[in-house]
Amino acid sequence: MVSLNMILHIDMDAFFASIEEAINPRLKGKPLIVGSRGNRMHTVVCAANYAAKALGIHSGMPTKRAYSIYSKLEFVTADQAKYIWTSEQILGFLKGFNLPLNYASIDEFQLDLSGCLGIKPVSLGKEIKAQIYADFNITASVGIARNWLLAKLASKLNKPDGLTLIDDSNFEQVLRKASLDKLCGMGGKNGKVLMAKGLETCWDLYLNLPGFFNNNSGKFEENTGKPTEKPKSVSHSYTLPRDQVNHQVIQAWIRLLSEMIAVRLRQQNLVSATVYIWLNGPVIGNFGAQKTHQVSTNDGYEIYQRALKIMARSSLRNPRIRAIGVTCGSLSHGIYYPLLKEEARRERLIQALDRINNRFGEGVIYPANTTLTRQ
Ligand SMILES: [Mg+2]
Repeated sequence: MVSLNMILHIDMDAFFASIEEAINPRLKGKPLIVGSRGNRMHTVVCAANYAAKALGIHSGMPTKRAYSIYSKLEFVTADQAKYIWTSEQILGFLKGFNLPLNYASIDEFQLDLSGCLGIKPVSLGKEIKAQIYADFNITASVGIARNWLLAKLASKLNKPDGLTLIDDSNFEQVLRKASLDKLCGMGGKNGKVLMAKGLETCWDLYLNLPGFFNNNSGKFEENTGKPTEKPKSVSHSYTLPRDQVNHQVIQAWIRLLSEMIAVRLRQQNLVSATVYIWLNGPVIGNFGAQKTHQVSTNDGYEIYQRALKIMARSSLRNPRIRAIGVTCGSLSHGIYYPLLKEEARRERLIQALDRINNRFGEGVIYPANTTLTRQ
């Protein structure tokens, strides 16, 4: 049976490390890690390429440990601007398909093929992979399934350079082979709790909680069979190379994420009334809070200010931060008309910045304090 609901999930393989390998052929195939600037022996692995992964090196591992596994490891300093630029180019290419598109993270994208009976999902997946490889010399893994949760799982099952379809004919077979921690949200504590209860594979979870795999929430609107018109929210998040206590650096990241969201919103003529901020750290665990405003905006500086106010209201005092996320929700179509003269001037400035960034590549001009994120 041809399913009406169909999501194609694209997950770039070892994205940061692959970009560095593609740019510098000398590094091709050698075990390589990307880390933050500073002493390469005292930081954390931001990304590892597949040659390094094969040795057991993975992101989040202290670099000292990685070097103890393989002393000749190649080290490249992370260059966020380069990764964001590549991500934006891929996003631009995917927009050309004129399908509902979700920018799930810097290296993950989702196309909603629901109801598009003329499209052959596997052929489309192959076409996308081939084009990304031709343009950037890096590979992507594609997963295709009836909802984003299964599509994302499928993308993980044959990495790197994989293409996996989960449909009614192989659903049981695939889920039996997929360990539970491959499933989105099951990598950490949740997965461990369930694994301790004897649930090892995704199939075990399905037998206990079949409704879990009908999950379609979060990424796309409730599926009505018609392509969705606008996303529910736009978000960006980033895992820092190491825990960060420096307030200015944390704020700089919030600013950069806010600006990235604002660009997305403006490209789709959307404005947002709700800002949600999410922080993760070793002491605070997960912290999330949101606020809805009467006036919607698509101005990165305004989003940033709203996010800071949410943080200021919280009881967090100089927290150690590992990961940061900003989400804009309560979206509506519409161009944001500034009411005040001062705002009108800012609006013209934003439009000029967007034009420059469109012409010369995203992030050529960026707010001064985001330079701290390039440390
Ligand atoms: Mg990836």
